[in-house]
Amino acid sequence: MTDILVVGAGPAGLTAALYACRAGKRVLVLEKETFGGQITHSPKVENYPGIAVMSGTQFADRLLEQTLAQGADVEMETVTAVRRQGDGFAVETEGETYSAKAVILATGSHHRQLGLPKEDELVGEGVSYCAVCDGAFYQGKRVAVIGGGNTALQEAVLLSETCAHVTLVQNLPVFTGEEKLLEILRGRDNVSFITNTVVRELLGEDALEGIVLDTDGSTSTLTVDGIFVAIGQVPENEPFRALVPLNEYGYFDVDEQCVTGEAGVFVAGDCRSKTVRQITTATADGAAAAIAACRYIDAL
Ligand SMILES: Cc1cc2nc3c(=O)[nH]c(=O)nc-3n(C[C@H](O)[C@H](O)[C@H](O)COP(=O)(O)OP(=O)(O)OC[C@H]3O[C@@H](n4cnc5c(N)ncnc54)[C@H](O)[C@@H]3O)c2cc1C
Repeated sequence: MTDILVVGAGPAGLTAALYACRAGKRVLVLEKETFGGQITHSPKVENYPGIAVMSGTQFADRLLEQTLAQGADVEMETVTAVRRQGDGFAVETEGETYSAKAVILATGSHHRQLGLPKEDELVGEGVSYCAVCDGAFYQGKRVAVIGGGNTALQEAVLLSETCAHVTLVQNLPVFTGEEKLLEILRGRDNVSFITNTVVRELLGEDALEGIVLDTDGSTSTLTVDGIFVAIGQVPENEPFRALVPLNEYGYFDVDEQCVTGEAGVFVAGDCRSKTVRQITTATADGAAAAIAACRYIDAL
């Protein structure tokens, strides 16, 4: 039986494994897709303290190497369910069942995409899902924010401080985010609003040059250097719903202690309810969850 089984090898899961190994625990990390998680999609990370600039893949590689050096076992497997088994847990994958004394769920989330051709290829070349991450690359440039809820409005507020122009593009007749944010945006000369409109096409081959908009059936072109897609995030928590309840948005509703109501189950990173989803907050959660899990095991 392993001491701690970590589901997900993103920044949160790998950091949890690193801390737990250093506390002398046997740790197994199971990852379904990419060691390193979402950050591997980022060509340039400039906001991780202590490292001025690196690619997301460089960050992921270094963290994986560091975690393996501390003695963690890491396997490529999709976890399909976790259930209580005696004092511990049975963790099921498509081909195996593992036993663990404690489980850390660090399953992350992903940004909902527009689902348009070339969207994946243009990530980092004009298509972004995070103004905090990438806004600095668009200083003095023209951008569009796609979406109309609170996240989209917050992204637009942030971007309007440094970009030449920000256009908000919303598919509904009204913006559904807070009135206070809308007021701030209405007061800025470099912000404009488009409603009842969807993005039909991304223009540009190697870098985004503009977008084709569809407003009630009539099309137009908006020339922009970048778009920030803010139409929601999708957590990866469904397989664990029976173990730990999810909130109405599908996240684990725990605070920065990372402790759930189910003894021996901890959560870390983007998969929990929080306001800032970044590497810094994910790694902080990983450390907190690991320390809580180690204490739990020591008290067994
Ligand atoms: C394009 C892009 C650019 C970004 N840029 C920045 C930036 O510049 N700075 C910054 O701080 N943040 C940035 N972020 C955000 C940052 O990547 C995330 O906040 C961070 O990766 C969250 O870490 P996590 O470990 O919680 O989740 P994730 O990174 O999502 O990792 C979770 C992992 O769990 C795995 N998983 C899920 N379900 C299962 C399962 N059932 N079984 C096994 N494995 C499973 C997933 O495959 C994934 O690898 C960016 C994100 C994107 C998408």
